[in-house]
Amino acid sequence: MRIFKKIIVTTLYIYLYISFFNFFSQLEDNYIWISLLTIVFITLFYFLFKGDKNKKCAWCSSRKIKFIEGNKGQWYWQYRNKDGSRDRRVKGNFQQASYYSKYLCKKCNAETHFNHLVNKKPSKYIKVWRRTLQSDGSVERTGTDWESKKVESVYSDRANRKNN
Ligand SMILES: [Zn+2]
Repeated sequence: MRIFKKIIVTTLYIYLYISFFNFFSQLEDNYIWISLLTIVFITLFYFLFKGDKNKKCAWCSSRKIKFIEGNKGQWYWQYRNKDGSRDRRVKGNFQQASYYSKYLCKKCNAETHFNHLVNKKPSKYIKVWRRTLQSDGSVERTGTDWESKKVESVYSDRANRKNN
């Protein structure tokens, strides 16, 4: 998520927290409700700011990495015919693309590349599914290459019909 979106969401969370807080304060046993409310909001903030834990340097595991460049993969239709063209019978059909990014580590200077999941808005902010070391860093290696086991391949050159 981009930083300005995070600021908006944070503001909204704080506003909601204060509203609920004021409401619960009037109740009996309000300390129980306020404790629960606080736990819920701490969890929400944790998920908002935790980021992508796999997006780190493949050489030293530092998360202080700097974006160099990235490019989108090929766009394809979610529901498509054999030749890859849009399946016009499906309402709300949409196009998606993957994203490939290159990062330089601020700590060890190694270069790491990432494959991002396909998305309607492909970018460096989308969750990564593969981390590949491109060039060695200056310290001893403690990081690793990584690939998600949950990822399914998309064959954009094959037909994909709804409900089958
Ligand atoms: Zn590094």
